[in-house]
Amino acid sequence: MLEIKNLHVKVDGKEILKGIDLNVPAGEVHAIMGPNGSGKSTLSYVLAGRDGYEVTEGSIRFKGRDLLEMSVDERAAAGIFLAFQYPLEIPGVTTMTFLKTALNAQRKARGEDELDAVRFLKLVREKAKPLNVSDDMLKRALNVGYSGGEKKRAEILQMSLLEPALAVLDETDSGLDIDALKTVADGVNSLRASDRAMVVITHYQRLLDYIVPDVVHVLSKGRIVKTGGKDLALELEKSGYAAYGADAA
Ligand code: ADP
Ligand code: MG
Ligand code: MG
Repeated sequence: MLEIKNLHVKVDGKEILKGIDLNVPAGEVHAIMGPNGSGKSTLSYVLAGRDGYEVTEGSIRFKGRDLLEMSVDERAAAGIFLAFQYPLEIPGVTTMTFLKTALNAQRKARGEDELDAVRFLKLVREKAKPLNVSDDMLKRALNVGYSGGEKKRAEILQMSLLEPALAVLDETDSGLDIDALKTVADGVNSLRASDRAMVVITHYQRLLDYIVPDVVHVLSKGRIVKTGGKDLALELEKSGYAAYGADAA
């Protein structure tokens, strides 16, 4: 599903990613853990195709296609979904309208018919229920005044509507209390599928008690310095990142 080879990325002329190799097959959930500043968000921004992230070496293939040649819209249409560490607030656009626009843009790009208001409402309510997203929340402006937990639940709702082939969740756990964390994790777990790959980026082991990954990678100073099974996360929880070259913190 996702094949990254020797990826080097510069931001503002400074090399942040220094040769990343990463393979995430369909059906698997991979965790990327690492200290602050190791390049986790940079990696997710490069996958999203954000401006200002210059790939100087290496390649990214998604379902066999050259991802770096694909526009942001093409990436979304092909089924890449990214949940960012800091979700965007959009005053004046309700969450409902945002979700409908996102879903119909994807359907249109795929040559599918757009959902009318009635069909969309039925679908969004069905997907919103297990995530505890109320009608009232759907009618509010996207992320404006949302609590940390509400923002993350709105993101998981978006993911569940778009049914991506590859989902990348950047620090979806930050700022969540335990109940919100469980709701988000349940939502993610319900989307596990043999034709879907997920990359869960986190600083903390706690999330991985609820979203149990198949593979754990440790990112440090722009490189993947260790790869292992789910127990690697527990090991990190005990030893911290000091052994992986993190600056003393
Ligand atoms: P993480 O998500 O692991 O905390 P980031 O990817 O956010 O790490 O940042 C990795 C490194 O890149 C950090 O040293 C950060 O200071 C640097 N960095 C991030 N964005 C920029 C930017 N726009 N300009 C310069 N340096 C940046
Ligand atoms: Mg950070
Ligand atoms: Mg980050």
